[in-house]
Amino acid sequence: MRLKNLPSEFQEALPILEKIKTAGYEAYFVGGSVRDALLNRPIHDVDIATSSYPEETKRIFHRTVDVGIEHGTVLVLENGGEYEVTTFRTEDVYVDYRRPKSVSFVRSLEEDLKRRDFTVNAFALDEEGTVIDKFGGLEDLKHHILRAVGVAAERFNEDALRIMRGFRFAASLDFTIEEETFKAMTEHAPLLEKISVERSFIEFDKLLMAPFWRKGLSALMTSQAQDYLPHMRHSHGKLQSFLDDTEQSFRFSTSEQAWALLIIKLGLDNPRAFLKSWKTSSQFQKDVEKIVAIYYFRLTNNLDKPELYRYGKYLVKQAEELRQSQGLSVDFTRIDELDQDLTIHDKHDIVVNGGMLIKELGMKPGPEMGAILKAVEEAIVLGNLANDKAAIFEFVAEQAD
Ligand code: ATP
Ligand code: MG
Repeated sequence: MRLKNLPSEFQEALPILEKIKTAGYEAYFVGGSVRDALLNRPIHDVDIATSSYPEETKRIFHRTVDVGIEHGTVLVLENGGEYEVTTFRTEDVYVDYRRPKSVSFVRSLEEDLKRRDFTVNAFALDEEGTVIDKFGGLEDLKHHILRAVGVAAERFNEDALRIMRGFRFAASLDFTIEEETFKAMTEHAPLLEKISVERSFIEFDKLLMAPFWRKGLSALMTSQAQDYLPHMRHSHGKLQSFLDDTEQSFRFSTSEQAWALLIIKLGLDNPRAFLKSWKTSSQFQKDVEKIVAIYYFRLTNNLDKPELYRYGKYLVKQAEELRQSQGLSVDFTRIDELDQDLTIHDKHDIVVNGGMLIKELGMKPGPEMGAILKAVEEAIVLGNLANDKAAIFEFVAEQAD
């Protein structure tokens, strides 16, 4: 099989392949970019695999960066682009179902392709556009099937992250997981407890953000994999209502929004603990918590300026979209209007600060002044006080009386 029109991303990277070949080694495009090109999907990061060892690769190019030399990866900087060039490798002994104890560099492309997770991720593409397909990936691609390379049970036993990747690819590609592969994913799901939470998070997050997230989540639930993910044991029923209650065509606009709805649907009363156990960043935790808080507030209240000021339009809109996804009434115009009516969006927008109160009104720093500044902020947000120096000074004088 030959790709007639080599996408521009590959064209631009051709000189890299050619240089490696001129030096006497093999080089191919590999991984997700080849799969996506065959599916006519947009390509991101073009990965290159080669028979040259890292030290040899570094001698071929002027500018390289050691980004993961122990795994055989050298970053090549060429023609304004950056390319990850990785030596063909095998992964011998797996420890703790996580990572191989060591990788061995090899000269054979086939050995390298064998260690890849799914047949549609195990293509190589040469400089002429010929697709090398050792495991029936083209046939699987045609039928939209996700199938493990080799003996499925062994592959998931080696690296349980592949189970999460399987659900994620079902969600992003709209592929059906082949029966044996699915059976092995189900059987090995308990091993998910052994892999790093950060890696599981990345895959679960990609799943939720994917166009066919319902498909990926349904497959995950059928395998009962949720029982082995942080804080999700026995959540099958709740995840089912997540699917049932959410509008069929709904897609999440941000990760924060996706995790907020997950928390709401799981009925968790401590979002922070949940997000911590997934080892997410504190900024992520804060934003997700805010979306959840706005969502619950909105169940019994109308939005007003203080909420817009406190949470910001961006997060308020995300919560409103979640209402829409649950078939609840929405009012996006009101959000825009309230936001436009706000004369300040942050306390730093206030034209008067503590220093000025000390200098110009002779006030003393301390809790009392803090309370007065808070009152100024509130009055401005509510529209009861202009963000104007004279008006604020007058207001402060009244408060201090
Ligand atoms: P994406 O489009 O999301 O980047 P991808 O297929 O490129 O998808 P990557 O995580 O970037 O996925 O990995 C690149 C390639 O490396 C995969 O296509 C696959 O061949 C291989 N790979 C990655 N992770 C694993 C793994 N855990 N086990 C086996 N092979 C893997
Ligand atoms: Mg990739």
